[in-house]
Amino acid sequence: MKKNEKIVVTIEDIGVSGEGIGKVDGYTLFVKDAVIGDTVEAVITKAKKNYGYAKMLRILEASNYRVEKKCPVARQCGGCQIQELSYEAQLDFKAKKVYGNLERIGGFAPEFLDTVMEPICGMEEPFYYRNKAQFPIGTDKQGNIVTGFYAGRTHSIISNTECALGVSVNQEILHIVLDFMNQHGISAYDETMQRGLVRHVLIRYGFKTGEIMVCLVINGDKIPKSEKLVDKLTQIQGMTSITYSVNKENTNVIMGKEIGILWGQGYITDYIGDVKYQISPLSFFQVNPVQTEKLYGLALEYADLKGEETVWDLYCGIGTISLFLAQKAKKVYGVEIIPQAIDDARNNAKINGIENAEFFVGKAEEVLPEQYEVNHVYADVIVVDPPRKGCDETLLRTMVHMKPERIVYVSCDSATLARDLKYLCEHGYELKKVKPVDQFPHTVHVETVIMLQKEN
Ligand code: SAH
Repeated sequence: MKKNEKIVVTIEDIGVSGEGIGKVDGYTLFVKDAVIGDTVEAVITKAKKNYGYAKMLRILEASNYRVEKKCPVARQCGGCQIQELSYEAQLDFKAKKVYGNLERIGGFAPEFLDTVMEPICGMEEPFYYRNKAQFPIGTDKQGNIVTGFYAGRTHSIISNTECALGVSVNQEILHIVLDFMNQHGISAYDETMQRGLVRHVLIRYGFKTGEIMVCLVINGDKIPKSEKLVDKLTQIQGMTSITYSVNKENTNVIMGKEIGILWGQGYITDYIGDVKYQISPLSFFQVNPVQTEKLYGLALEYADLKGEETVWDLYCGIGTISLFLAQKAKKVYGVEIIPQAIDDARNNAKINGIENAEFFVGKAEEVLPEQYEVNHVYADVIVVDPPRKGCDETLLRTMVHMKPERIVYVSCDSATLARDLKYLCEHGYELKKVKPVDQFPHTVHVETVIMLQKEN
């Protein structure tokens, strides 16, 4: 196979980034935008010794799993990777990914996995689920101010205000911002020249409260005529917080460090379950509230609390899981590396009147061993929700020494989950339950909640 060669290939598998995988005479090809089951004509764009990449030219025979994309720019935009795969097939792909990693990396036998693995939890309505969107603002070749999304792995803006994952009010807000900029000669930021004012628009929406937040990220100290913008935005029902964030750095980081209020309060409120959260422009908050409630509800179910337990929630972020658990436990300790997140966690505990949750700032793999060795802390249940790289072995070792009755692991990367489970199962724990949860429909990501029980 050579570069620029045209081939016909049938797609038999889905790769980690959602691309189609097929074989031609034993040679593996990765074809972006091709769906499992498709037969496509493609041109080879990169040929290595044993595998290559190809660009789809046309679909010769469409897969039964292929659906019409909802968003006209789904292929160019970096946000969705598998929008053209039916939702059922997406769920199947994700469940198999978790299963495959547990088998290959975790070393669990298929017969065993079949007894512990529960069906994946999907969404009833897998669109319009995001409560947060960050739209870059720029200028197109004709000099018009545009907003939309970055094309995959680039910083060129694809003009689009109609994201199928976001809420519908996003569009109304973006048009108000663009009209305001055009009418008052407010410039868009130019990344290469590092000139111009408005860089990004951050929008957050409280699914339970209907409260809306708009924050403009600017390369300057203020927005001229901002009262005109406020006039228009406050006509939208639910508008609660209008702010700006100053970011004059030449950086990919979107938000600046400080927030100025233009109108209303500096945060919105929303609920996960019965727990109330105050969310500021800089706060971390799960982006899919509907599935988050299911995910953390499952963590709570797996923790199986009766009211007398001491629980450690490691990698606790703003304390979402901790506060969920605190309602059913005697005491919850949360550990998180980012100090601002812990400020939020403490504040959220306070506004909910939760007094049995205590938080530590620091690395889980340092705080827990230290608390265990120095203060001899104890745990009935340990919950972990680490980032993609999973848990540090020092942490796993301490967890095993502490001998909690149950360990609940919430994971956003089933490969590192499988690695960590292997360790825990070799050190006195038994895998009891596994359930994948689809937090991010149309992307290749999948979350998994598992429960381990101490062996007798
Ligand atoms: N359950 C949390 C989200 C967890 S995401 C919530 O709902 O808010 C993973 C979290 O781990 C992030 O907040 C990240 O800042 C934190 N983190 C990353 N490395 C860490 C470490 N070594 N020790 C403690 N926390 C860490």
